[in-house]
Amino acid sequence: MSKKGISLKPILVVIVMLLISIPAVWLAIIRMEGTAPALKIELESPFIGASRTLSVSVEDTGSGIRKVWVGLLVEGREVELLQRAFPSSGFFAGGKEKSVVVKAPVSPQSLGLADGKGVIRVVAWDYSLRKWGEGNRVYLEKEIQIDTKAPTIDLISRSHNLAQGGSGAAIYRLSEDCPVSGVTVGDQFYPGYAGYFKDPSIHLAFFALDYQQGKETRVAAIAEDFAGNRSTAGLVYHINARSFRKDAINLSDGFFNAKMPDFERYFPEMSGGSRVDLFLKVNRELRRKDSEAIYRVTERTEKKILWDGAFLRLPRSANRARFADHRTYFYGGKVIDRQVHMGVDLASTAHSPVPAANRGKVAFTGDQGIYGNTIILDHGFGLFTLYSHLSQIDVAEGQMVEKGESMGKTGMTGLAGGDHLHYGTLIHQTYVNPVEWWDDAWIKNNISAKIDDAGPR
Ligand SMILES: [Zn+2]
Repeated sequence: MSKKGISLKPILVVIVMLLISIPAVWLAIIRMEGTAPALKIELESPFIGASRTLSVSVEDTGSGIRKVWVGLLVEGREVELLQRAFPSSGFFAGGKEKSVVVKAPVSPQSLGLADGKGVIRVVAWDYSLRKWGEGNRVYLEKEIQIDTKAPTIDLISRSHNLAQGGSGAAIYRLSEDCPVSGVTVGDQFYPGYAGYFKDPSIHLAFFALDYQQGKETRVAAIAEDFAGNRSTAGLVYHINARSFRKDAINLSDGFFNAKMPDFERYFPEMSGGSRVDLFLKVNRELRRKDSEAIYRVTERTEKKILWDGAFLRLPRSANRARFADHRTYFYGGKVIDRQVHMGVDLASTAHSPVPAANRGKVAFTGDQGIYGNTIILDHGFGLFTLYSHLSQIDVAEGQMVEKGESMGKTGMTGLAGGDHLHYGTLIHQTYVNPVEWWDDAWIKNNISAKIDDAGPR
């Protein structure tokens, strides 16, 4: 009996020690963990304008997040932007939140902060029992630049004469570097570029007035700096209204028989069906898809002017259709469709050589639906020329071509009824009247003279 009584003691000691040490070990390992929260400041650019919302993500998978503090330091002054405490799930469990995103609005002017350099400071604590229960703490700082002043736009080009469906050029000087600047015409935006003039603050933008934009269209220069401050300066301009020709196109069975089989590949579900229905699909849906494909090509442009002087017109050719002709399509004496012709049709002898209208870089070559075999030339700063219905293409994408250099032969590929060149001019994504660019005097008055007056290049 007595032997048993003696041997109980060490067992009790072990039990007591275990009862004490298990929570101690648990406390030491789990609740005294030493990993601080992870911080990330989300800011697209270091520039803070009139108002900006700062986003901070905090993560602590260990004890959970206790507190987050966000402040701004400018010229030795510290301003609190945000302080937030997060709930605990109890002594043993730690913090409820393991991952949070806090948003702190910053508006330097209402905080009385001047423009200049500053630092964003974020501090976060977790629910670890370390530091006498204060938790692990982490700091993160990020340099920022407060800029609440909008850029100044100084218009150098004085007056702008615009025709409906025509082109224009604006030259302006910016008071600061801006990632976005250019000309707005109605709701269309045309970017301007620096680097053409010796003075890097001088920008040049080519812009267009769509054939549908009338006299009431607003034209202005705009600039937005890195902090998002935006300025607008009204351009001095005059819009000349234009009326566009109406054209009737009589479609024959001969045309359908010759042309439609080739288009069945775009609409295989229509093969064997009505040729008129297929034509309407081609003239509407395919036309729209082709336009979108062309606009994707003209989204990117060389940041220099590659062309010089008047653009060349296909030699010894007759004008078969003009820019923005409003076409009505007849079949069997009935109107079946209406479209607007966004280029000029030029007819010479069949398979005539097609010269580059001006110096440029080949931006596209290939079969483009209703346009058939097509070449698009990039002349820089958003100015493009397009050559369609070709029977032959002798240039490759990326190649430079000189003014007058032969690039291929005219033909009747695509939706062309006879051998001709469909010639188009675009400013970024707007078709403009090519006639202006063929005219030496127009280029001198509206483009070259302005560029020459603006400053050394
Ligand atoms: Zn055409």
